[in-house]
Formats: sequence, structure tokens, C-alpha cells
Amino acid sequence: MRYYDIVIVGAGASGLMAGICAARIGKNVLILERLSKPGKKITVTGNGKCNILSSLEDIRNSVNSSDKDLACKIFKSIPFQTLKKFFESIGIFVLEKNGYYYPISLQASTVRDTLVTVALAEGCDIVCDCEVNDIVKNGSGFIVNKMFSCDKLIISAGGMSRADLGTDGSSFKLLKMLGINSTPLYPALVGLTVDFKQSKTVDGVRHYADVYLLVDNQEVFNEHGEIVFTKKGIGGIPVMNCSTTAARAIEAGKNVSLRVAVLTQQDREKMLKSIWERLIEKKYTIEELLTGLANRKLVYAIMLLHHIDPMLKPGVDEGLKIATEVIDTLCGLTLKVTGTQGFDNSQVTSGGVKLDEVIIGSFEHKKINDLYITGECLDADFACGGNNLTFAWITGIRAGTYAAGGTIDSDIFY
Ligand SMILES: Cc1cc2nc3c(=O)[nH]c(=O)nc-3n(C[C@H](O)[C@H](O)[C@H](O)COP(=O)(O)OP(=O)(O)OC[C@H]3O[C@@H](n4cnc5c(N)ncnc54)[C@H](O)[C@@H]3O)c2cc1C
Repeated sequence: MRYYDIVIVGAGASGLMAGICAARIGKNVLILERLSKPGKKITVTGNGKCNILSSLEDIRNSVNSSDKDLACKIFKSIPFQTLKKFFESIGIFVLEKNGYYYPISLQASTVRDTLVTVALAEGCDIVCDCEVNDIVKNGSGFIVNKMFSCDKLIISAGGMSRADLGTDGSSFKLLKMLGINSTPLYPALVGLTVDFKQSKTVDGVRHYADVYLLVDNQEVFNEHGEIVFTKKGIGGIPVMNCSTTAARAIEAGKNVSLRVAVLTQQDREKMLKSIWERLIEKKYTIEELLTGLANRKLVYAIMLLHHIDPMLKPGVDEGLKIATEVIDTLCGLTLKVTGTQGFDNSQVTSGGVKLDEVIIGSFEHKKINDLYITGECLDADFACGGNNLTFAWITGIRAGTYAAGGTIDSDIFY
């Protein structure tokens, strides 16, 4: 059996960060990773560009957690500028684009490679192709897979989203072995499946839209952004950002729908006026009048939905009635939400170990000494925008530092 001061389960965002911080303090650290390479998920973040950090100060409206106050407190506990400086100190410089932060390389792989290089340079051992499936608390320490013993154990094995990236919920099974429960788990940042007869017609269509989530006919969320229609439903950032709320409401038996407005009321008035002017000329078919109001495929799908003949050359009254029907639908297409596209398509897992079960600041479990829990294993998930990685970096830095006996300057928790 090989002894280490600290064993970390999972070489993902928080695990690599924890390893770097603990090793810097001089501890003997082992990181165990089930996949053949460390940090695979990091390489696909932000569409391969890695939306690495968030500068949001008020995260309250962007977090799901059974304890939003604690989640917000943790999020603020290492300020954006400090995290940015930390990354600069290891050679990752960030650039800002429309409020989103990326590495200057715009390559997520450079973030992963740098974190791994620094972890190794600081003295961490990283063992890949090593799935942890057995943890035993042994007196004052732990025995992992009957192969490694350690004084402190950090569980950084992520959530249940994207089993192909190593995260299939095994972290929660490991925690359960130690007697630690998690809250119910839901896919988060995932597309929704909707009841839309014309979904095949619009497969692949992207559009800017105002998206509203309605639960039992009450609006609970709205956001503007780019959406994408798929064969089974709708994705895109605004939809992903309300997906957990939708998933939870559906499970609670509520009636959930999405209202998608690709046109605004101002667009409506302008467009109807223009269509009326052209109707008077009596030269145009309905299709010719309406093409260009929005994405061609979407307009066509709405015409099909209302059984409108695109080749019809209508009179003024009939033409205006048809145009109003189509434009009103483009101003508010309401679709019943039937579910989510599941954990395997979700970016993040909602739910996990309740935040009040760990010491906020070090992330050591309150009842099991020397056990630390980071990142997505915890019950806090966030809207798109670099927030989830920010939470992973913060919890990793803190758990690694405190597990190694260090502290963080001007710590707000101690
Ligand atoms: C496609 C995609 C895009 C994303 N884009 C962004 C983005 O741009 N910005 C952002 O902020 N967030 C993004 N996220 C979310 C972000 O990547 C995660 O929230 C973050 O990586 C979580 O960090 P973590 O340390 O908790 O877990 P992870 O980074 O998921 O790491 C967990 C690691 O543990 C390993 N592991 C699991 N079980 C075991 C076991 N039993 N034994 C050994 N190893 C194990 C896994 O293989 C994995 O390497 C994205 C996620 C996805 C899937």
C-alpha cells in the first residue's frame, strides 16, 4: 500500500486545482483519474474555448442550490481579480469578449495542459485509468481502492453529467459509502424536449429570441439570447439556463411550457404595415410576403402549423389576417415542455451534497474529519457564463489549501 498525505479523486477542474494548491504547500499529493487523460472535460468547455472565469458579483439570480446564500458567499470568497491573477501566475492569461472570459489562446486544451503541467511540476502524482470504487475510513485516514492510504481525502469526482467525460455520478456513490447523502440530482444546462409538430422542419435553425419559462402558466424566467431548434426540442443558452427549473417543475407534476418570441411587438407593427403596403399591390403570394420575417424554415413551419397555403395570393383583408396570425406566433410561440435532453447531454448536474454539511471555506465535511468535497459534487450549479468553472476553481483552491494545512490570505470565513 502506498501512502500519500492527500489523495484527490478526479483530475477535473477542481481536483487539479486542489492538487496544485496542496502540493505547493509541500504535501505529498496523489490525484486519481478514471479516464486515460486528466482534465478531459476542461478541453470541451466553452465549445473548445473554455469560458474560464466569471466576473459576476451578484450571482443570486444565476444559482440553483438548496442554500443560495451559502452558494453566493462561496462564489464571492475568491474575487475575480484574485482568480485572474492566480491564472496569470501559472501562465494562463484571459481575454474578455462580450462579458465572457476565455484564455487568450481561445483553446480550452491549453488550460487543461497548463493545469496538468503545473500540478506535475509542483510534485503531484497523477495516475490515470484508475477508477476509484472503494474508500474506507481507516482511523484517522482513508484507504482508497485497497491500494493507497492517506491522511486527507478530497472528492473532486464531479457530477452525473456526460458519462463520456468521466462523470456518471460515481462521486455520489463514493460519498454514500462514507455515509454522505446528496439531494436529488437533475440535469442542468441542457436542452429541453418540447411538443412541437414542426420540429423536424426547423431542425438546426438558430435564432435570437426572448425565451420565457412558464410553470402552471406563471412566468418564472425570461432571458434573451440565441436558441437552436433540434429534432426533439430546443437548446441554446437561454433554454439551458432555465432547464433545471423546468426539470424540477415537471418532476413535481406541474405544467411547464416555453414561450419563444423571435419577434417583438415593435417588429410586429412595422412588419404588418409593410405587408399591408405590399398587399395593396396584389402581386405577392403569402410566402413571398412573409419570407424574411424570421428564419425562412421557421416562418415556413409556422405557416404549416396554421395550415396556410404559401402559394395563396390573398386579398388585403385575408392577407392581413394570415400575416397577423403568423407574426403573432413568431411573437410568442408557446410549446409544452415534455422533459430535458438528459444527463448525457447536460453540461452540469444540479443537486449534490448540501452546502451546510461542509465547513464553508475549507469544504471539509462537518462530520467526517479530513474528508473534503469540491465542485459539482456540491449542491450548487450556475447559469452559463464561466460560473460553474469559477465555482470549481474556488472550491478546489480552498479544499487543497486547507487540506494541506494552509490558509487563504484575508480569509472571509475564518
Ligand atoms: C460540454 C461542456 C461545456 C462546459 N462549458 C463550460 C464553460 O465554458 N464554462 C464553465 O464555467 N463551465 C462549463 N462546463 C461545466 C464545467 O466543466 C464543470 O462544472 C466543471 O468541470 C466541474 O468541475 P469538477 O471538478 O466538479 O468536476 P469535473 O471537471 O467534471 O471533473 C471530475 C473528474 O473526476 C473523474 N472521476 C469521476 N469519477 C471518478 C472515479 N470514481 N474515480 C476516478 N476519477 C473519477 C472524471 O473523469 C473527471 O475527470 C461545461 C461542461 C460541459 C460538459
